Amino acid sequence: MHEVSIAQGMLDFAIDYCEKNGHKSIELIKVKIGRAAGVVPDSLQFAFEALKTGTIAEKAVLTIDEIPVSGICNSCGKNFTVDEKFVIVCPLCGSMSFKVETGRELNIVEMEVD
Ligand SMILES: [Zn+2]
Repeated sequence: MHEVSIAQGMLDFAIDYCEKNGHKSIELIKVKIGRAAGVVPDSLQFAFEALKTGTIAEKAVLTIDEIPVSGICNSCGKNFTVDEKFVIVCPLCGSMSFKVETGRELNIVEMEVD
């Protein structure tokens, strides 16, 4: 389950940031995760809850924003958004030539610290 190493990486980053800036606790961590990032939000949440125990992030709440997969088609030139985790063909014209623009994000977008 690689969500564990992702959660650990986020925690390490947040804790390191707080230590360098003199903050004593973390209240909230908000992340954006693209549907195509290959991360299961529930698993990430679960891993985070387990890993934060005993750290300055012990009381922190993790909120996860899921970003849908979207792209632009090279054939019809239109933007599209899909419900699936990946795109095989442009949903508008069926072309296999397109560029995925969102859906691979895996970022901390906001932190509340004390
Ligand atoms: Zn198209």
